[in-house]
Amino acid sequence: MGAATDVGRVRHNNEDSLVAEPPVFAVADGMGGRARGDEASRLAAEAFARLAGDDGPTTEAVLDAVTRANDAILAASRTAGSGNGMGTTLVGLVLVEETGGQRWCAVNIGDSRLYRWAGGQLEQLTVDHSEIQELVDAGIVGEAQRSVHPRRNVVTRALGTLPAPVADCWLLHPVPGERFVLCSDGLTGHLDDAEIGEFLAGEATPDGAANRLVAAAVEAGGRDNVTVVVVDVDGTAHVEVDPGASTNPRGADGVM
Ligand code: MG
Repeated sequence: MGAATDVGRVRHNNEDSLVAEPPVFAVADGMGGRARGDEASRLAAEAFARLAGDDGPTTEAVLDAVTRANDAILAASRTAGSGNGMGTTLVGLVLVEETGGQRWCAVNIGDSRLYRWAGGQLEQLTVDHSEIQELVDAGIVGEAQRSVHPRRNVVTRALGTLPAPVADCWLLHPVPGERFVLCSDGLTGHLDDAEIGEFLAGEATPDGAANRLVAAAVEAGGRDNVTVVVVDVDGTAHVEVDPGASTNPRGADGVM
């Protein structure tokens, strides 16, 4: 795996945080201003990083980590005084032990994203929790307007809120040769899916891909902090595959 982050060309603080501690990977994009966003994303990353110490984390443990992160951010908000709420997005990917064997557990809250790259195809696995996503889904705003629309930065779910946000959650079979990309919106605000795919195709190592993607977003303007984690499933690794088991998304509409 590889990871890279950059403050960008406009912001003074990097409020993104990341986890790249196999088998736990995550990106969190903090919000709240005045150095509070970085604390929110750091608390979310810490809650997730703790999973790496587990002996084979489970899906339940991943969802517990989401709850712990929300509680920790709320507690920090209260300590700092109300009226200055902080929050963060969180996208996570954890190799978990399930009854059928190992699975990728992917979770999402907010507009950071998880992509899967396999066989030369890039697929966005997560669905943004954002006003712009709702406007695009409703056909009010075209896909081309997504990265320039004035409401593009308004998220509809975040950690650090009450009632606690519900994470979308997916379970996926690990497949040799696949590559995952976790990223904050500082990447996708500047690079479209075709461009992300080109950089992935051009970089053999996950470290190279993460660095190249971040550098490209900064070169393209760097309006926001940009963070990328790239995870490669070794093409020669032994992966237990049970073709009879379901690979359908679970809770893709927020039910879980
Ligand atoms: Mg951002």
